[in-house]
Amino acid sequence: MAIIIHKYGGTSMGSVERIQNVAKRVAKWMRAGHQVVVVPSAMSGETNRLLDLAKEIHPTPNPRELDQIASTGEQVSSGLLALALHREGIDAVSYAGWQVTIHTDSAFTKARIMGIEDEKIRADLNLGKAVVITGFQGVDPNGNITTLGRGGSDTSAVAVAAALKAEECLIYTDVDGVYTTDPRVCEDARRLDKITFEEMLEMASLGSKVLQIRSVEFAGKYQVKTRVLSSLTDPLIALEQEMKSGTLITFEEDSTMEAAVISGIAFARDEAKITVLSVPDRPGIAYQILGPIADANIDVDMIIQNQSVDGKTDFTFTVPRADYQKAFDLLKNSVQAHIGAKDILGDPKVSKVSVVGVGMRSHVGVASKMFRTLSEEGINILMISTSEIKISVVVDEKYMELAVRALHKSFELDQR
Ligand code: ASP
Ligand code: MG
Repeated sequence: MAIIIHKYGGTSMGSVERIQNVAKRVAKWMRAGHQVVVVPSAMSGETNRLLDLAKEIHPTPNPRELDQIASTGEQVSSGLLALALHREGIDAVSYAGWQVTIHTDSAFTKARIMGIEDEKIRADLNLGKAVVITGFQGVDPNGNITTLGRGGSDTSAVAVAAALKAEECLIYTDVDGVYTTDPRVCEDARRLDKITFEEMLEMASLGSKVLQIRSVEFAGKYQVKTRVLSSLTDPLIALEQEMKSGTLITFEEDSTMEAAVISGIAFARDEAKITVLSVPDRPGIAYQILGPIADANIDVDMIIQNQSVDGKTDFTFTVPRADYQKAFDLLKNSVQAHIGAKDILGDPKVSKVSVVGVGMRSHVGVASKMFRTLSEEGINILMISTSEIKISVVVDEKYMELAVRALHKSFELDQR
């Protein structure tokens, strides 16, 4: 008898009928002798509806109150799921994060899980109950309800799996696994049976939205066996078949891993780039430019500083497009006055495309193949950055989809 965690996303919980299907699936696992903890998201659209209501009442809502409001979506879906389980003849109980307890820090709207108490969950499991725990939330040391950031239910589920040392964490969603790239952009995209944890981490941080990145970090830190699979199949599908479906996140590159050099192509559409021109090349300059940006809580992604000519250099970096204007205005004020640079330029319409694969460690020529493919399509590369297992380029937004499709083809990701 093993402890299994099921996580269901908003679409999977999106209607009464879908919730009933979730209950059927959970009941099937329990009847097969497993102990099941279920972590649901809010019903699809619900978190947006709640946040929109808040914004209607106040243009700059207080983050504590936002969490108080947004956390209710999961409480409703959890209670509904417990009821649906009762109808399946399963003894089930639902808890909000603060009742478990899921402890977080106090960073409202993007809190981090600090620890999970497992006594209550274990006691219920040992009584034969299904335990339903709200995703996306916890409680801070002062008793305030917190939420974990959009998509945070993934992280709740993996954290619960880690706390209970669960056999496996099954992330049920509206796609049937992790794809080589987004099928909406490239119709030849195909599902991966396995992906390494490191690749998944890159894919999640580079813009693939299948899993919240923190959930992948958690899975890595605690070696949680995590599988992404569809909630839209027949809920009564045989367990053995279900356990072979979807995409498994693995911790070792075993010999059965596909021999591909590249496993996937990730992209982030909404990026922006800012260039500070002719900056005096002296110690502390990068800090002077990026310090105020970091202080404003803006994530800086790629950074390039040129070789200096005549003691002057250009400094370019990217930020999420939503933060572009803020970052630009922050720097505009200081570049000439304090930094002594010539000017600042910006382009809010760029995108990032990345090829990811642990196979890059043992293969040469991945970068040149990537650059050749882009050049054959006439796509200009604006910035480049690399790590051990990924190469990212920034391109004009209007070429992003073309770049993804061309790279998908040239790296033969469409072929098994
Ligand atoms: N309901 C939350 C959101 O929409 C959390 C989640 O679905 O994972 O972001
Ligand atoms: Mg999600």
